[in-house]
Amino acid sequence: MSYSNLSKKRKIVDECRVFNKEWSEMYFFTDIGVKAVCLICHETVAVFKEYNLKRHFQTKHASFGQNLSKQELQKKATDLEKSLKQQQTLFKKTLSSQSNATKASFILANKIAKQNKSFAEAEFIKDCMVDAVSVVCPEVKSKIEAISLSRRTIVRRIDAIAVNIQEQLLTASDSFQWFSIALDESTDIQDTAQLLIYIRGIGIHQRNTVYGNDGN
Ligand SMILES: [Zn+2]
Repeated sequence: MSYSNLSKKRKIVDECRVFNKEWSEMYFFTDIGVKAVCLICHETVAVFKEYNLKRHFQTKHASFGQNLSKQELQKKATDLEKSLKQQQTLFKKTLSSQSNATKASFILANKIAKQNKSFAEAEFIKDCMVDAVSVVCPEVKSKIEAISLSRRTIVRRIDAIAVNIQEQLLTASDSFQWFSIALDESTDIQDTAQLLIYIRGIGIHQRNTVYGNDGN
């Protein structure tokens, strides 16, 4: 291969910033998404450039694996890569189970609001679920315990749901071509006037939409 071909090839590899698998055993790096991650200290290097990875390895881990043969180095790199990927999977699983717990908390808050139940009932519901699950499938008990259903959380969730419904109503009513409104007023337990507004509209995108909105 002539020198010009070689330099051309190197340029393409550099520009595409492709991770070269050989770097794993040469400099102990792996690629995760668009970043190169050091298998030894887990530091990331943003650019897939051999020079950057080599510099990291030579300045920070110069003596790493000095007494190992080529085969042992390969095995070490594979093992480290495997354990890093396992950690990543575990991290992803934790994240998704947290978001599932939040989702469940919203679903129950929505039910409580719809049924006009006291906010404190969510704590009782959780108690019941934990007890029942401990008998039926104890392995998921910790997942139920992770669902936040305290009275304060339920108040925050219901507030957030109300804001979201109002936003949906405002967005949807923008496209109403015809609509009808029904109003009903009554007072709540503290003698505060409550106005219930029903809007039924026909928009451009949706044929028939019915929304209910509670307001003072
Ligand atoms: Zn490192």
